[in-house]
Amino acid sequence: MGQAVSINDNILLLTDDGPRLKGAVCNDCGTHVFPAASGCSKCTGSSMSEAVLGTEGALWAWTVQGFPPKAPPYLGETDPAKFQPYGVGYVTLEGELKVEARLTEADSKVLKSGMAMRLTTVPIAQDEDGNDIHTFAFEPV
Ligand SMILES: [Zn+2]
Repeated sequence: MGQAVSINDNILLLTDDGPRLKGAVCNDCGTHVFPAASGCSKCTGSSMSEAVLGTEGALWAWTVQGFPPKAPPYLGETDPAKFQPYGVGYVTLEGELKVEARLTEADSKVLKSGMAMRLTTVPIAQDEDGNDIHTFAFEPV
């Protein structure tokens, strides 16, 4: 029986308290970046500290991915007959930044601008040891 593993420990931590996104914050101007980077996208400073981002936010914009993305880098189902559409959107983490993420909801009639979203993960593939590889996603609260 496999266990849940992160798609990338540099961006997604699977903790006992749930998933966390790992970004960085600029020591000079306080701008958050995700994924973590060695430089600030706003002031171009290079003094950055690791920052664990908030887990709740508001949906800002979204679309529905209705066909398999190009693989690689996409790791999920690529057979168009088996592919399940999924939502993709930007979630505003208050006081931090907008994060582009997969959404657990794929129905554009359910998704609403400003709706409350919470960080979760979804399994998208398995590694050679049978572990489920999870990527981050946001679900409606
Ligand atoms: Zn900065």
